[in-house]
This record gives sequence, C-alpha cells and structure tokens, in this order.
Amino acid sequence: MITENTTVRDQILEAARRHLSRQREGIHVSSLIYPLKHYYRTKYPEAALSDRLVGFFMAGRGHHSIIQMLAAQPQYREVSVEWMGIRGTVDIFQDSVIEIKTTRIQTLLTPERIAHDHQEWILQIKYYCAMTGSTRAQLWLFYLGLREGDQRRTAPALQVFDVDPGDLEAIRAEMLGRKQLLEKAMATNNPSLLPPCPAWMCRDCEFGQICTFAGRSETQKEKLNAEAIEIELL
Ligand code: SF4
Repeated sequence: MITENTTVRDQILEAARRHLSRQREGIHVSSLIYPLKHYYRTKYPEAALSDRLVGFFMAGRGHHSIIQMLAAQPQYREVSVEWMGIRGTVDIFQDSVIEIKTTRIQTLLTPERIAHDHQEWILQIKYYCAMTGSTRAQLWLFYLGLREGDQRRTAPALQVFDVDPGDLEAIRAEMLGRKQLLEKAMATNNPSLLPPCPAWMCRDCEFGQICTFAGRSETQKEKLNAEAIEIELL
C-alpha cells in the first residue's frame, strides 16, 4: 500500500522556508536591484514565503548548484565581493563574471527580449562587473522546460550570452545613488521613494498585502521606475 505523507512534505517545506527567510546583514547587490523587497524584508522579517515560492526557489537553487559544480572549480564558485559597503556573491568568477539564471520560460530568449523583459538580470551582472573591475561577463540561462518546436513536449536547455557591461564608472555612480536612496527610505520609513520590482515578481510576493506597488502593471512600474531613477540621479 502507498499513502501520501504530507507531514514529512510540510517539514521539508518548512525547513526550506526557514532557510530561505534568513535575514542577511547589510546591503547586497540584490538590495539595489530589488530595493523595495529589501525594504519590506527588513521591516517585516516575520512575513512567510508561500509554498509556491519556496518550490520555485528550491527548483532554481538546485539546478543552479549543479551547473556551478559541473562548470567550475570550488574556488571560483560563489565568490564573495564587497565594494563601498555593498556585498555580493558572484555565481562563478574566474576570468569573467558569470551569472546563472534558471527560468520557466518555454521559448528561447533573444538578447533584445532579455534587455527588455529581464533588465534585472543584466543589472546584476553589470553591478558585479563594477565591483570586481571585470569587463567580461556572461549570462548562463538554464531553461527548466523549453518547448520542442511546436510540440507540447518540453526539455531542459542551456543558453549562454556574452554581456558587455559598458561604462563601469557610470555603473558605480548608479549603484551608489541606489544605495543612498535605499538608506534614506529605510531611515524615513518611506518605501514610496523606491523603484518597484518587475511586475512578474508581485504574483507570489510575501508582501503583496502591504506593498504599495503590488499588482501594478509593467507599464505603470516602468514609469515609476524611470521616475525613481530620475530622482535618484538628481
Ligand atoms: S509586491 Fe511586488 S513591488 Fe512590492 S515588494 Fe513584492 S515584488 Fe516588490
């Protein structure tokens, strides 16, 4: 006889939730890319991640670790970097910055679509380049289930992009601007100073009930983001 054991399943999910919810000290690269998340996580540390989100993180991190393990020696994986009080962890850092992303998107992405729909991935790579002084970078994109032609079948796939980070000094100035804005928002308890996260992140966000920007469309957020960045640069 086979019976489903939901007790053990719940224990595993709870352990993963605790692990994923651990508070990190200080300001990280991700804090600058998703400052509103950083704000709410710091102010409301008790907010619980949904089972759905825990599942996504588990799937993402699992694949991520395997790729790192297969592609790089231990000393080049998860390399800690720090610059002007901003901390970061580069997935693989040897001759260049390598950022690994897993995605549930089922069709291959073009550089144009990445630049438009996933600016946050490129921003993260640029910030690591600015912190390390590296002018070479790559994005490794691992598709969990890429659609095979026009069939309904899917299969995992890997795609690699070379990324030119551009002007490192300009990126450093942007990072410091974002850091100052985040510190000001934290000190004044004012999340409305901060640019919102991409709209796709709101769907499963643990702060959906309290965040001022939850449920805004991508177009509204792009506008708010542009305004916040303009303010930041003043
Ligand atoms: S609800 Fe959306 S904008 Fe607000 S913190 Fe969550 S992901 Fe960011």
